[in-house]
Amino acid sequence: MPRIMVNAWGLGLAFIAAATLALALRPELRLAARAAWNDPRLLPALADDARVHYEPDARDCAEAVANLTPRAIARVESAHGRPFAQPPAIGVFASYENYARANAMDDPGIAAVTRAGAALFSPTLCGRERGRLEGVLTHELSHVHFSGWRPLGAPRPPQWFTEGLAVMASGGGGAEGVSETEAAQAMRDGYRVVLDDRRWIDFAGLGFEREPPRDPTKDALTQRQRLAYRQAGMFIGWLRMRDETAFLRLLRALEAGEAFEPSFESAFGDDAPQLWRRFVSDLSR
Ligand SMILES: [Zn+2]
Repeated sequence: MPRIMVNAWGLGLAFIAAATLALALRPELRLAARAAWNDPRLLPALADDARVHYEPDARDCAEAVANLTPRAIARVESAHGRPFAQPPAIGVFASYENYARANAMDDPGIAAVTRAGAALFSPTLCGRERGRLEGVLTHELSHVHFSGWRPLGAPRPPQWFTEGLAVMASGGGGAEGVSETEAAQAMRDGYRVVLDDRRWIDFAGLGFEREPPRDPTKDALTQRQRLAYRQAGMFIGWLRMRDETAFLRLLRALEAGEAFEPSFESAFGDDAPQLWRRFVSDLSR
């Protein structure tokens, strides 16, 4: 009996040592572990809206978010054609440092992130970037809606699709400052985002067929990302307008955990690059 105890202890210690080593060697594991530890669902929730969790100093912002939430939810449910699988969890942060800990990227500069089924909001959305709050909230809730239906470990669709869906559902959240007219003109001028198969890329790192000109008064990465987001959002809107039944069939297949490419083809009868070319040629007319 004591021997077994010792062995169990030994195993436990070996496990802890292995986990510590893994965390030390793999920065993304360390970020994920720290984010789980700082999950916004561990924060208190508003008394009159249990979906909205907040750091005590972000109470006013949490209330502003709660006021906007019903409209954002209605928009997302209408665009996605289905209610949420479960009430969305929202986290509103007062401290950039805590927000960066919780967002699993160690980056306080991103306005909002959806992670592990919860939407996290940086203090900037109730500060300098308050004008973006409703659009960004709706954008993130599109991600929460989508991930809420999908089985754990389901293959991820390409990022242009999930981001384009969120921009479309939110009427431009995440693509602020780039109008549809400007994005269409950029596409006609050859500055078209390249639909990339990769599932995990920094959207700002996406390629354009031709590098878009930079406005020296704006941040180059933000500018690039918003143009890419806007173009992806317009493409998703075009797909939905062209055949809403096919669009909803695709969403339901992805939510059921099916792979992107075959689901897309079976819904639309063509692959995404083919329809993208048609979208571009429609814009050019
Ligand atoms: Zn997004």
